[in-house]
Amino acid sequence: VPVIQLRNIEKIYQTKTIETVALSQVNLSIGRGEFVSVMGPSGCGKSTLLSLMGLLDEPSGGTIEIDGRPVASYSDKGLAGLRNHKIGFVFQSYHLINDLSVLDNVELPLLYRKGVGNTERRRRALAALDKVGLNARTGHFPAQLSGGQRQRVAIARALAGDPEIILADEPTGNLDSVMGEEIMDLLLGLNRDQGTTLVMVTHDEQQALKTQRLIRFFDGRQVA
Ligand code: ADP
Ligand code: ADP
Repeated sequence: VPVIQLRNIEKIYQTKTIETVALSQVNLSIGRGEFVSVMGPSGCGKSTLLSLMGLLDEPSGGTIEIDGRPVASYSDKGLAGLRNHKIGFVFQSYHLINDLSVLDNVELPLLYRKGVGNTERRRRALAALDKVGLNARTGHFPAQLSGGQRQRVAIARALAGDPEIILADEPTGNLDSVMGEEIMDLLLGLNRDQGTTLVMVTHDEQQALKTQRLIRFFDGRQVA
């Protein structure tokens, strides 16, 4: 059973005056432990695809299944649980909170998790920071870090929740090639060593070639 399955997905954004077809007839399955990259020109629907896979938004048509179960069959509470426990997000612009320390940023997604107390939360955050090689920076603030380090904090924050799936939207888009490569190596390592399923949007062909499968989009459709 694929971990994520999209069947005949349509996504239409409707504003007062314009209707935009962001995705059309998308059929896609992501296997457990796969590392898939997604490429395509600006505006072709890549971010929309990730937000649907991450259950942040609903399709206008078609069905999404997680572990073989249609997302529409979950209650709101069940859906929130799925979103928080199963899926981690990494963004191009890191989305860190500037007046929180590195450690506090990484603890954030565990703050409201049932059954995770202060000590356990800290333990998991430190373990996640260790995985990204930032255990010497726990007391720093985001402004004191390089771009590559900030992205590593964002990856640690995603890892703290122990997700099965990481969805990364141009995770190296703001980084120079050296730091970009470091981040790519980190993601490849997570996939290889702990079996994390990864879906990554990228503009970098070289990076995409390092993943197991490359899906190309054009104008809301999967073209290759
Ligand atoms: P990409 O990530 O490939 O650049 P997006 O998924 O962001 O593409 O956008 C796909 C299309 O949907 C674009 O035409 C974009 O303008 C439109 N779009 C994205 N988000 C919204 C929104 N919230 N409201 C209206 N249109 C949107
Ligand atoms: P890079 O060249 O990789 O972008 P920087 O030159 O920004 O890295 O930073 C080099 C090192 O100095 C990093 O390890 C970072 O943590 C530290 N650093 C950068 N700015 C500050 C600061 N304002 N306060 C404390 N440490 C900082």
